[in-house]
Amino acid sequence: MRNGTAAPARSTRPIRGAALAAAALLSVTACSAVTGGDGPEPQVTATLPLSGPGGPEGSGAPSAPAEEDGPLAGATVVVDPGHNGGNADAADEIAASVPAGPGTKACDTVGAETADGYPEHAFTWDLAQRVRDRLEDGGATVVLTREDDEGVGPCVDERARIGNEADADAAISLHADGGPSDGRGFHVIAPGHVAGYTEEIVEPSRDLAEDVRAAFEEGTGQPRADYLADEGLDERTDLGGLNMSDVPKVFLEVGNMRNPTDAELIEDAEWRAEAAAAVADGIGRYLAR
Ligand SMILES: [Zn+2]
Repeated sequence: MRNGTAAPARSTRPIRGAALAAAALLSVTACSAVTGGDGPEPQVTATLPLSGPGGPEGSGAPSAPAEEDGPLAGATVVVDPGHNGGNADAADEIAASVPAGPGTKACDTVGAETADGYPEHAFTWDLAQRVRDRLEDGGATVVLTREDDEGVGPCVDERARIGNEADADAAISLHADGGPSDGRGFHVIAPGHVAGYTEEIVEPSRDLAEDVRAAFEEGTGQPRADYLADEGLDERTDLGGLNMSDVPKVFLEVGNMRNPTDAELIEDAEWRAEAAAAVADGIGRYLAR
């Protein structure tokens, strides 16, 4: 649930993108991982504080109100940190089947990790807070799909539902892949056409994916993935986090955690700060369309 008291006042300034759809949620992707069951009730807060440059802190204090005059004032963005810290110890829960479009899918997965043992859930949690802070600095209202890195889930359909209920202008699900160790680079996943599910979001999500791709490669220098996708863009019809979304949404796989070069970047807090700025920039470009 959103923290109404901490939520910044929404500006009345109209934003074109807002009508399109709600948030761009980045949800679960191809990350290699295991599954889990029903997650706990997702805890969504409009604001989670980020501590200093050293890195985000957990949940807690309400964040500052959005900048009412910022370029993103009036926009709502859902940021979905993939996986969760408790998933590995909740195999049955995360393995439970949930609606994922025409079919079902596992509630969630454990996620990938680097050779050093830096887990994807911790990475996405860190990155999501940084992205949130950037977007809030621009005046956007931001909803996260989980409030810490200790829980289980939420399930992929719930992650999508959070974006729908927020009526987000854009939603982005943050991930890092667990691919072959000799492959590196980032890719963005947009929803493909799934009759009865994604018709309304295919086009705007594609726009969002292209904006995020452009901003991410400009902002980080990270190459487009050389082991999958096409020029850093993929379209998938099997992801519940996309199929169940009613708002423009993409997944971002920032790199391959099993690749030594990518892993070193992902483990570097300075790089994560750059990556967060790039992600926020990409979402901002989309919202400005
Ligand atoms: Zn993932």
